[in-house]
Amino acid sequence: RRVEVAVAGAGPAGLVLANVLRRAGIEVAVWERFSAAHLERRARAGLLEHRIAGYLRAQGLATGLDARGSRHGWCEFACLGRLVRVDYRALTGGAGHWVYPQQELVGDLLAELARAGGPARLESPVLGVGRDGTGRPVLRVAEGGAERTYGCEYLVGCDGAHGIVAECFPPQARRVVRRRYPYDWLTVLAEVSRPVEGVRYALHESGFAGMMPRAGTVGRLYLQVPPEDDPARWPAERVQAELAARLRPAPGDPRVLRLLETGVVRLHARVRGRLRHGRVFLAGDAAHLLTPSGAKGLNLAVADAADLADALIRALRRGDPSALDGYEARRLRETWRMQEFSDRLLGLLHLPREAAEPAEREFGLRLRLAHLRGLAEPGPRAVDFARDYAGAG
Ligand code: FAD
Repeated sequence: RRVEVAVAGAGPAGLVLANVLRRAGIEVAVWERFSAAHLERRARAGLLEHRIAGYLRAQGLATGLDARGSRHGWCEFACLGRLVRVDYRALTGGAGHWVYPQQELVGDLLAELARAGGPARLESPVLGVGRDGTGRPVLRVAEGGAERTYGCEYLVGCDGAHGIVAECFPPQARRVVRRRYPYDWLTVLAEVSRPVEGVRYALHESGFAGMMPRAGTVGRLYLQVPPEDDPARWPAERVQAELAARLRPAPGDPRVLRLLETGVVRLHARVRGRLRHGRVFLAGDAAHLLTPSGAKGLNLAVADAADLADALIRALRRGDPSALDGYEARRLRETWRMQEFSDRLLGLLHLPREAAEPAEREFGLRLRLAHLRGLAEPGPRAVDFARDYAGAG
């Protein structure tokens, strides 16, 4: 059995890549270990950058986004009783976000792929990767209760943070650089009293809290907790009380009514040194992991897929591999730009661990408030932040 391009993983990266390749007439197959029901329930990200929404639209992949997504163009920072609003859409001349839950996007992309005649092979995990005598990749998959082998011209690992494709790289190409932050975030999906219209970041002496829009009256909330904290120490009443204390909702602001899902994100970031080995490429979380601070993970995954789709089409249809040769360098440059922004934002949102005394904590908050005010006033600093935040390039 052979395909031109084999894709491991039906997350946003794998599904965008497969849809775009299929539209270009390339024979592509996607293997995914989970069922559609599982993927369409898995709530993760929800903010799509303007340029990413534009790309999906240009590829004919934005029907659901246009029907059910909503536009979003400002964020605000609560600090020392003040609220500083950054209207990044105005500051960038129109580059806002689209709010559209990741699981709905994944559902749309699965449906588009099936409509195009090449449905994802669900509940079919990739078990291993090797090579044939010509150096072309060979996959071992569990499909329909049997183990099968497929050959391909190119294999793309879009299999997320714990994927196995990267593990087929030789040890010297498996190097990863990483940072562990000295805090974690409790993540909460909650029913809120009214739709969240803009992202709110709260800088507070007890720690950071955040609220991001999702669909309708569902919001995504974050609470800074000590590293490796046990979520069991956070019963619903404690979460709700702490969110209210840190976010300080004014009358008319969304209030948390009911917690729907609680988890914890261990805050770490990492980047692989190599995104290519021969005819095997990595894209999305398989290549790099960002903290959720700047809402960049999903956007970077789709941007990787867009870049790689274009490069593969050139290689396979025009016999021009030059864009494939530049893939790793282009994506690593972009990844580090995003990592730098997410890291800078985390530094702004969290007080340093050393600031233990109340007076030191207040000093840290006052410095941050001064900085935030600079981000809200039109000028080069505000425009730079707004462009990074909105992914306006
Ligand atoms: P994934 O979406 O992880 O997809 C990888 C797919 O590969 C999965 O479906 C997996 O099942 C499949 N797979 C893995 N191994 C195999 C195998 N051996 N065989 C077959 N299939 C396999 N980003 C933001 O921007 N904002 C947020 O608020 C945000 N919140 C998040 C909350 C959580 C809890 C998590 C986990 C992530 C969050 N992210 C957020 C990150 C964002 O969701 C990811 O960056 C995004 O999903 C990356 O897409 P991807 O396609 O690269 O990987």
